Amino acid sequence: MKQFRSNVIRAGLGALYFTGAHHLLRPIFSGVGAIFMLHHVCPPRDAEFQPNRHLEVAPEFLRAMLAHLRSRGIDIITIDELHQRMVERNFSRRFACFTLDDGYRDNRDFALPVMREFDAPLTVYVTSDFAEGTGRLWWIALEMAIARADMIDAKIGGAATRLDASTPAAKQAAFDRLHDRLRVLPGEHDVRREIAALCARYGVDETTISRDLCMSWDELKAFADDPLVSIGAHSVTHCNLAKQSEEIASQEMAASRARIEAALQRPVLHLAYPYGDRHAAGPREFALARAIGFKTAVTTRPGMLFPGSAGYLTALPRISLNGNYQDTRILSVLTSGAATAMWNRFRRVDAA
Ligand SMILES: [Zn+2]
Repeated sequence: MKQFRSNVIRAGLGALYFTGAHHLLRPIFSGVGAIFMLHHVCPPRDAEFQPNRHLEVAPEFLRAMLAHLRSRGIDIITIDELHQRMVERNFSRRFACFTLDDGYRDNRDFALPVMREFDAPLTVYVTSDFAEGTGRLWWIALEMAIARADMIDAKIGGAATRLDASTPAAKQAAFDRLHDRLRVLPGEHDVRREIAALCARYGVDETTISRDLCMSWDELKAFADDPLVSIGAHSVTHCNLAKQSEEIASQEMAASRARIEAALQRPVLHLAYPYGDRHAAGPREFALARAIGFKTAVTTRPGMLFPGSAGYLTALPRISLNGNYQDTRILSVLTSGAATAMWNRFRRVDAA
C-alpha cells in the first residue's frame, strides 16, 4: 500500500511537471510561504536495503532547493520571523522556512554548511531523550535487525510469523510489514517491547543508536550558538502524542522544552509533533501546544501556508523534502503548492 501510494505521488508530481499545470495553478495555490521539513542531510549511501531513505536528502539536493528559492526571490527566514509575519499578516514577500526534525548530527555536518552558503537560517527540533543519549529510534533499530537477518521471526497480531529477509526486496517488504504494524500498536511501551525483543534476537544494540546519530547536549550547545540555528522541541521520548493521556502528552511537550532550555540556556518557543500526521497530532495536541505557550507548532501534514494559517499557528503544515524524490525537476512543482493542493483536495487550511 505504501509503495502504491508512493508511486502515485511520484507519477502525480511527474505529470504536474511535464504538463506545466503547476504554472497555471500557482497564482491560486502557491500561498504566502512554505515550511520545508527534513530529517537527515547526508551523502547518498550505496546499500540496496535503505528503508529509511525517505528521511535522507543529499546536500546537493538541499543546495538546489535553496538556489531555486533564491532565484525566485523567496525570503528564507527563521521560524521566529515566520511567526511574526503571520501574526502581523505581513505577506508582501513570499517566504520559506527550513526545519529539521529529531536533532541528527548530520544536520550540523552537512546541512548547516549548505545553509551557510546561502546565509539561510534553519530550525532543528530536538527530541530531548535523543540528545540525552537514552532515546529509542525504533525505525533505525528495525532496519538494523532486518539488515542482519535472512529470516525474521516476529509476532504479528499475536501470532508468530516468519518473514523472508534474504534479498533487499524481501527485506523491504518485511520492514514495511513490521513498520506498519508497530505504528498502530496502542502504546509506546508495546513498540519498545517488540523492538527490544527483535534487537535481542538479532544482536542489535539499540541503546547506542541515539548517541551514534544524534547531537549530545554539548554538541547542541555549540551548534545552537551559530546565528543561523534555532532550536525547537520535539517531545521527550518521540512518542505518538495523540495516543497518550492528556496529562502525558502535555508533559512530553512541556518537559522537552524545559530540558532543552536548561541545557542550552535559551528560550524554546517552537514545537514539532513527533510523526506529526493526523493520527499523531490533532485538535487536542494543537490546543495543548498553545496552552503550554509554544508560538508555533508544525505537523507533517502536507501544505503551503496561507493568510488563514495565521489562525492555526500550532497546526502548521509542511512540505516534505523526501529522499525518494530528489529530482531537481520537482523543485518548482513543490514550491508551486500544486502537489499539496491535490493532496489536500484543494482545501487550504487543514487543522481539524
Ligand atoms: Zn521526529
